[in-house]
Amino acid sequence: MPLRLYNTLSQQVEDFSPARDNTVRMYTCGPTVYHYAHIGNFRTFTFVDILRKTLRANGFQLDHVMNITDVDDKIIRNAAAEHKDLKDYTAVYTQAFLDDCSALRLERPEHLVPATEHIDDMADAIARLTAGDHTYSSDGSVYFRIGTFPGYGKLSHNDFSGNIAGARVDLDEYEKADARDFALWKAPKEGEKYWETAIGPGRPGWHIECSVMAIKYLGETLDIHAGGIDLVFPHHENEIAQSESLTGKPFSRFWLHAEFLMVEGQKMSKSLGNYFTLRDVLEKGHAPEAIRYLLASVPYRKSLNFTFDGLKSAATAIDRLRNFKLRLETDRFPEGSNDQLIARTRAAEQAFAASLNDDLNTAEALAAVFEYVRDVNTAMDSGEFRSGNGAAALAFLERFDSIFDVLKPTAQAGQLSDAAVEALVKERDAAKKAKNFARADQIRKELLDQGIVLEDTKSGVRWKRK
Ligand SMILES: [Zn+2]
Repeated sequence: MPLRLYNTLSQQVEDFSPARDNTVRMYTCGPTVYHYAHIGNFRTFTFVDILRKTLRANGFQLDHVMNITDVDDKIIRNAAAEHKDLKDYTAVYTQAFLDDCSALRLERPEHLVPATEHIDDMADAIARLTAGDHTYSSDGSVYFRIGTFPGYGKLSHNDFSGNIAGARVDLDEYEKADARDFALWKAPKEGEKYWETAIGPGRPGWHIECSVMAIKYLGETLDIHAGGIDLVFPHHENEIAQSESLTGKPFSRFWLHAEFLMVEGQKMSKSLGNYFTLRDVLEKGHAPEAIRYLLASVPYRKSLNFTFDGLKSAATAIDRLRNFKLRLETDRFPEGSNDQLIARTRAAEQAFAASLNDDLNTAEALAAVFEYVRDVNTAMDSGEFRSGNGAAALAFLERFDSIFDVLKPTAQAGQLSDAAVEALVKERDAAKKAKNFARADQIRKELLDQGIVLEDTKSGVRWKRK
């Protein structure tokens, strides 16, 4: 069964394969690093992780870009309130975000790109939009004129005709179904950080950063653009308007959006006291893999009700799978092999893969796993399970875990997991290649502080615990 994904653009489930050389060019909107990310954000990032792993399971390679929004209204406001330099302020929350992603076992995209390192690229794109008559300026700010892009509204399926005449908005956030010309470039305000560029001093608006960095790293037409459902309008609609006005080509073939997360049946909000960062939930003593399981267990196009009972059930489900695995590894079974169980394992594998390929139906995929576990436990109890059936059963569990990644317990507090060490070693390698020796040295030191020693050898970097 081919991979099928729901495309917000066509409002249909479509067969997916990348446009060229078996590589999926994918862009996902990353965090705005003005605070610790909340569990609703991580619902979306966990969906992206399941998507990555399912794409890979279908034999595709990945070229995935995620931005770090390290300049916007909120960041500027918060940094000023704390009397901090923008960079110092965002560095803390960028690192916190990466740590949180590691805790949830979210793979690092191939490119993680901060907006502030691409300001000149953005200024250049705005200059080209201006040359194409898509913009107008006012008091040093530059606005995109929505009336010059007839396709405006095609992603959110809103009809904006008659509602797009030259009213402009400076904020990064505005009301749903309110199509106003948006700021591409914001003139410097008193006391605010700004950049000197070819189009004058100022800073970019939020929307332009994604268009520019996506096209820079992935080309003019992406295979997949994904994010939370709240980004469809205006953010993604604006990205399409800018990108397609620049290139004259479709910006992305597929648009994927994850639904909202509710907490205990209510919209998460600070005033209701049900607003949780990942750190808040971890501090209550819940294992990261239980959080990951809960976030992944509901298909991404359904809204997810995050409850603390649900977290407990997630932990119980993981225990059940771990016990099953332990039993497969340690019980002694009669010699031989049971043909019926061989067929049962194959059927479970097929159901698992087919469910994921059905627009990432994670609930069905998990059901296939648990029905299998129940049947095999019964077969073990009755002596029908034979030693020759063990390898295939373990291989299926491994296949499951290559997507859901919950079987291995998280290392105790204070001890870096193997995966976290590997990720840092990889990051250091990349830093060295990019001649960012400061970062490379910093990682070596961070690891040493955690009791991890690195050895540079001819065949690459080896690491060991002290
Ligand atoms: Zn974006």
